[in-house]
Amino acid sequence: MLRPVSIITDSLLTNVGPLNVKQPLPVAALRDADPFILLHHAGPQPVVPGEFHGRVDPHPHRGFEPVSFVYRGSLLHRDSLGNEGSISSGEVQWITSGSGIIHSEGPSEQILRDGGELEIIQLWINLPAEKKMMSPAYQEIHRESIPTVSILDGAGQLQLVAGEFAGKRGPATTQSPIMAAMGTIDAGATGEIDVPPMRTLLLYVLGGSLRVNNEHVVDRHKLVVFADNGQSISLEAIEPTSILLLAGEPLEEPMIAYGPFVMNTEDEIRQAFLDFRQGAMGQLDY
Ligand code: MN
Repeated sequence: MLRPVSIITDSLLTNVGPLNVKQPLPVAALRDADPFILLHHAGPQPVVPGEFHGRVDPHPHRGFEPVSFVYRGSLLHRDSLGNEGSISSGEVQWITSGSGIIHSEGPSEQILRDGGELEIIQLWINLPAEKKMMSPAYQEIHRESIPTVSILDGAGQLQLVAGEFAGKRGPATTQSPIMAAMGTIDAGATGEIDVPPMRTLLLYVLGGSLRVNNEHVVDRHKLVVFADNGQSISLEAIEPTSILLLAGEPLEEPMIAYGPFVMNTEDEIRQAFLDFRQGAMGQLDY
């Protein structure tokens, strides 16, 4: 049985530093999609050498996992654990902020010098209450470690970043059951795919256009939220389409998201600001 579509959201348009961002989650019609809190889709936008300025300055996080998926271009990351690294298209940085991390991020030096195009998704995944104060961690996931899953008779490819899909397993270590896959589908491809048996299932369309479950036309910048019954979904690509497919189990805990922190109570948010000001989340100067 096909998993029914429960809601399709449109993106808000916003800016984060120099990036033009689409935000399909949260929106008024979808406050969260437990355990997924926020989805930002930046670009695609050109990087012209000498004309693209700015990166996201050092800032803290606590209580969740900010995950960046690079679809085009390359990103440079620095953090208070001493990590510095860049990732490029088809690669992922998976940050577990835990009790606190300070990071900065922006286009890599290579793309700023040579020019190119940037397209990135940043996803915020909530941490279970008992893991919000765990030690922070940083996973840099390179292309060679990410298995490809062929779908729709070979006319679609999923890059499996986390969780299990079609007998393969993605390399990311997750703190609750999560499946995450970046994908591309050729125009005209059609068929059903079996989806992971997790209660939250989301499909975001970065570019192109799909018909979902034989009836819903889903254009770029829209997010499909599926109901929690059924085993498969059907997809038909009307154009070449680029997607992010996500599944997870709801945490079903109180959530207070305030600025860069996501905790369970207001007191914990106040404590996070206090700890940050007192330097307990570490140090990063640039
Ligand atoms: Mn951040």
